[in-house]
Amino acid sequence: MEFLLDLASIWSESFQRDLFRYLLAATVLSLAVSLLFRRWMNRRRLQKRRANWKDIRREVSYSMLTIAIFATVGVITSILRSWGLIHLYWQWSDYPLWWNLLSLPAVLLLHDAYFYWAHRGMHHPRLFRHFHRVHHLSRTPTPWAAYSFSVGEGVLMAIFSPLVLMLMPLHVLVWLAFVFIMIFRNTMLHAGCEFHPKGWVDGPLDFMTTTTHHDLHHQRFRGNYGFYFTWWDRWMGTEFKDYKDVFRQAVDGEFSRQADGNRLENGDFSKI
Ligand SMILES: [Zn+2]
Ligand SMILES: [Zn+2]
Repeated sequence: MEFLLDLASIWSESFQRDLFRYLLAATVLSLAVSLLFRRWMNRRRLQKRRANWKDIRREVSYSMLTIAIFATVGVITSILRSWGLIHLYWQWSDYPLWWNLLSLPAVLLLHDAYFYWAHRGMHHPRLFRHFHRVHHLSRTPTPWAAYSFSVGEGVLMAIFSPLVLMLMPLHVLVWLAFVFIMIFRNTMLHAGCEFHPKGWVDGPLDFMTTTTHHDLHHQRFRGNYGFYFTWWDRWMGTEFKDYKDVFRQAVDGEFSRQADGNRLENGDFSKI
């Protein structure tokens, strides 16, 4: 009985932690778009269509379900940890300096590769309906779509944590930095307005994705599958050819000026 109570309290703590991070990131991004930088953001809107309350309600509801899945996988992770299969450490001196410095980029690179291939897999016609349909109901995504997943996608995304934690020892702060970068980056990609400065896609940081990059994925489906970086899409030839042009137009305020500039006609919604 005590064991079950322990598991329930781990589940609830895990749920609260993920819920806090999701609410924090989605609220910060929503406020940035609709309040703090409203005029600047309105000029940089990527679609004419606006998400409505129904869209946001659906995105939040499915995100709650995903957070419940994350919490369940969190319980499994803590059982694995009690078996000594997971090594999160507190003392920087436990591992060499080079590992302390390189472990965060290593986790981000691994997560990026995992996301790209899992995401491409979920677009397979046999898997799409059960794994990925819910996420693509957000035709005009908002920051609240960050965890708007079908159950299958939620599980696939959640198991990355125990897998990577079994693979490599990580400092607790490195892990925390990773989960915060992940959720903030995720909400940013779904913000619907381009945050990155002019010239981003023509400069040395072009290997990092932009809101345009992921928004185009929501508009057109078959391309731009990457999360943090553009590498995999470029290596695999899945980046939309006009991605950079669309980015340049977005930061120039081109779409916000178009009277009927809704780009959704490019999407293939018959698959949903
Ligand atoms: Zn998305
Ligand atoms: Zn997709």
